[in-house]
Amino acid sequence: MKKKDEIALYGGEPTRNSYLPYSQQWIDEDDLKAVIEILQDDFITTGPMIAHFEQAVARYVGSQYAVAFSSGTAALHAACFAANINKNDEVITTPMTFAASSNCILYCGGKPVFADIDSQTYNISPKSIYPLITNKTKAIITVDFTGQPVEYDEIMQLAKKHSLIVIDDAAHGLGASYKGKRIGSIGDMTMFSFHPVKHITTGEGGMITTNNKDFYNKLLQFRNHGITRDLRKMKMKHEPWYYEMQTLGYNYRMTDIQAALGLSQFEKVNTFLLERKKIAQKYNRAFSNMESIILPLQQEGCISSWHLYIIRLKLEKLHTHRTEIYKALQKENIGVNVHYIPVYLHPYYQQLGYTRGLCPQAEKTYEEILTLPLFPKMTEEDQNHVITGVKKIISYYSID
Ligand SMILES: *Cc1c(COP(=O)(O)O)cnc(C)c1O
Repeated sequence: MKKKDEIALYGGEPTRNSYLPYSQQWIDEDDLKAVIEILQDDFITTGPMIAHFEQAVARYVGSQYAVAFSSGTAALHAACFAANINKNDEVITTPMTFAASSNCILYCGGKPVFADIDSQTYNISPKSIYPLITNKTKAIITVDFTGQPVEYDEIMQLAKKHSLIVIDDAAHGLGASYKGKRIGSIGDMTMFSFHPVKHITTGEGGMITTNNKDFYNKLLQFRNHGITRDLRKMKMKHEPWYYEMQTLGYNYRMTDIQAALGLSQFEKVNTFLLERKKIAQKYNRAFSNMESIILPLQQEGCISSWHLYIIRLKLEKLHTHRTEIYKALQKENIGVNVHYIPVYLHPYYQQLGYTRGLCPQAEKTYEEILTLPLFPKMTEEDQNHVITGVKKIISYYSID
């Protein structure tokens, strides 16, 4: 058994020279062709490609409507607007996410209320949502963290009982399914992101899917300054040139250039998902007998979209802490990452009065997790490099 003071900072030479990021887009000839074609067309924004892209996503996830936005964050803002979140409204969400899932509540003047996560799925725990519901609670924003669906049965039931709107941040969840239903058709509104690290990309971009016509109309109006050209909805007289701004909206439109790219990317979505799954399964097999790490949970009845592959360190079986292992893997040119710093630990949220200790499970998890590179463009060599590097570094620091 190695003694603690025998363990020095790992100092091996990297076995690879180029840096492997944790995620990266896949752009091929078809994508280039689609973008060039649209640039030569009549519309480069607010043209027909937007509706094509929206319809393709809606059909795939099984929702009636879809509205494209300039980013996933803009889409979340619009969803909070459509859910009528205002000053004094409380919205329950998870701290184990990117800041945007909770910032959108603040954009509307609402108050984020953080519910702790489940220690195994790292998703918001229905048990911790329940005691936080008050007569001010208006909505729940869930996140299908890493691509693992949240516990929809319990959450939708809870929401129904208390008349809450469920907005699902599925930035990680395109293609994932829960008990046979695709994410995007379960919550009241579901957000997808098309940032380059996500499943498909439009550079920047996002979308909301919904089955609710009222939400759909509000989303459309919010995306375009709060303006309507629909005569039936106008409050004042109708001249032929007339349009009406009825609410304060934004310019959150996606361009047709992006929608053309999105549509071309979307044709490859099942290939992308399969590649991600294959790599995740390869990691699972390679790491299955390592005693000092916990591998991602495979939930029964769910299909993960494998946006992230997260390992959890058993610190009691290691001679060091997470930072050291992070640094050693970075030195190997393996672009490990940490998803996420619990949102309320950021200085801005601390200033708003949120304090450490609020969600103990999320804070403990945060100290122990590392995201490994996972994206369809990874070569066999990239994958093997990650596996070798992780095994080498973890066993170097393991108490054996
Ligand atoms: C990427 C991401 C967002 C934001 O999406 P953008 O398209 O970058 O604005 C929101 N929530 C989560 C969980 C994300 O991963």
